[in-house]
Formats: sequence, C-alpha cells, structure tokens
Amino acid sequence: MAYADDIVLIINNQDELDIVNEHLKNYEKASGAKLNQHKTEAVWFGNPNNKVPLAIKDQAKTTILGLEFSHTCSYNDNWSAKEREVIEELSKWENKNTTYKLRILIIKTFVLSKLMFLTNIFPPQAHTIKRLNKLLVNFIWGTTREVAKRELLFKSRKGGGLGAMDVPLKLLITFCKTIAAGVQRNAVWVGHRSRWEKKKGRARNNIPYYVLAYSDFRAKHGHLPINWVADSNKKIYKIISNDLYGGYVLYKGLQAEHYGTCVRNIFTRDMAESKRDIMWLVSVGRLAVRAVVKWSCFVKTKCCPVDGCQQDETIDHLLLECPRARDVWARIKDIGLDVEVNRNTVMFGIFVVEDQMYAGLA
Ligand SMILES: [Zn+2]
Repeated sequence: MAYADDIVLIINNQDELDIVNEHLKNYEKASGAKLNQHKTEAVWFGNPNNKVPLAIKDQAKTTILGLEFSHTCSYNDNWSAKEREVIEELSKWENKNTTYKLRILIIKTFVLSKLMFLTNIFPPQAHTIKRLNKLLVNFIWGTTREVAKRELLFKSRKGGGLGAMDVPLKLLITFCKTIAAGVQRNAVWVGHRSRWEKKKGRARNNIPYYVLAYSDFRAKHGHLPINWVADSNKKIYKIISNDLYGGYVLYKGLQAEHYGTCVRNIFTRDMAESKRDIMWLVSVGRLAVRAVVKWSCFVKTKCCPVDGCQQDETIDHLLLECPRARDVWARIKDIGLDVEVNRNTVMFGIFVVEDQMYAGLA
C-alpha cells in the first residue's frame, strides 16, 4: 500500500528525483489524486560533503512509521525519546501502593510494549541495556538501592525468585527472531545471509552494530536448543532465562530438601501479596534491617533499636533472638500457637508440628 503520505524512496541525485516526479505525475493523471508537495521532504543520509542539490524540501530528520531517521544519531534520538516515555509511564505508578508482583506486571504490560517495535529497527546497545535495567530495577524495588541481586529478581517464582522479566533479554530475542526470519526467507534487506551468520574476527569495527548484536547474541546462546525461526518468542525466553536464572535460590542455612516447601510457603495464596513481599525478602536475607542496609546511606549503625538490646539487628535477630521477638512469640504461644518457632520457621516458612513436617499451615 503506497499512500502518498507514507511512501519512502531512496534516491541518489536530481535525475532520480525527476524520474520519481514523472511517475507521480502519471499517477496523479490516472487517479485524480494529487501529491501534496508541502508534505514531501528529503533527508540526506550520505556523507554531508557529497551532498547534491535537490529540488525538494530539505530536512535534518524525518519520521518513518513513528521512528526518527537522520544522517546522525538516529539510534540515540529514538532511544532517548523511548527512555523518556518509559520514565513518564513509571512515574504514573509512583506513590501508589503497589507490590513487587504488580510492579513486575506493570513493566510487562506497559513498558515492554513501548519498546518492541523500536527494538526491531534499533536493537538496544550495551549502554542502553544498562540504563534500561537500572530504571526498571529501581522501579521494582521502589528505591535506588539494589535490594537483592538481579539474578534473584529474574529467577522464576518456582525457583524462589520474583519472576521479573529481563526486559533487555526479551528485546534482543525479539530482534534476533525478526532477523532469523528475514534470513530464512531471503528478505531483500538481509543482503548476503553470510553477513549475518559469519563468525566475527578482528574486523568488528567495520561491522554495523546491529549485525554484531545479532551474531553475538546467537553465539552467546548457541549451546541451547533453540530454533530461532520456529520457536516462539516466549519459548526462547523461557529456554534462555532458565539457562541464566534457573534452579532454586540458595537459601542460607536451609537444608536443600526443604527448598521446595520454602518456595511453596513463601508464595502461598493464604498470605496477602504485601506480606509475601516481606516473607520473600526474609527468605533471601534481604529484608531492610540495619545489618543488611548498613552500607547504604539510610543508617549509620547496625545496632538493634530496641531499648536495652545491644545486639546487631540482623534478620535472625529481629525475628527470633531479640528479647522483643522472644516476648512476642511467647505471647502468641500463650494464645494457642502450637508450632515450634525456630530459624526455619521464621526465615523460610518451614513448620514442624509434633515432629511431623507439614507443607504450610493449611
Ligand atoms: Zn534486639
């Protein structure tokens, strides 16, 4: 479909422009439609020194399918604009009472969709990936402090992680699938397919970055059983993220045989999502007690704030060892709690009732 306002033509000089104009005139005669000259513009993409005069409005940049193209910096212009859009979207959710799960869903729903199209034209480069990750991770944590390692964030909930989407990974998969499909059907823009498939040696400087993005990403995950044309984006994401973030969280001080129970109990539906967030932070040892955040600017001391308590405020201390905690547990026992309260109970939700192991309270 070639409507007059979204034809894009690539020409080299005035002669070629004359030929185009002649064809358009014929089209106007035949159809009765008329080309709006005021909406027609040209951008010079070649070396500025070789620029030739053309009888057409000359612009520094133009918009094609919502993306900006210019002689320089198309990548940066488009990605900076996107970054601002993402920041604006995320700011709408600030100061709302959201949980990790909801914030992760917001990214999947409102952020990812903004980036998919741009990614197919300009796949994100390392510096963009870094900024994007920082932005999204800060949003999920609700603070600029990295609350837990990113691996824990991207690990699936089945493995005890938070199951957040690694957005740059998803974007690069999308880009590589588009290229792989183009190569497969010998699309015109592919050119020589060897250009995309060749192993890259020392001449990397002469290779366009998006070609390297493709071949490097394919090579990096080459050991995995992926069919880049036939497998769905979702399936490929699953395979790669499982390779990168698979397996259980290594719970400190918990016997491996209890890992499954721990994960089940942390994510039990019997608990409100906000409580689950706290339980998750406890399980991976990242609840913001003083001994955990001591390197941040938030506190200057590790010491427990409870009157007369001189111990360091670790998570174990807060939940189990502090006189205040002991007092609370004793009172709960008085009103009928019949489970033994120990480190496994408070840290990982592992309950033992009369020497028997139960999978949760239910
Ligand atoms: Zn204390």
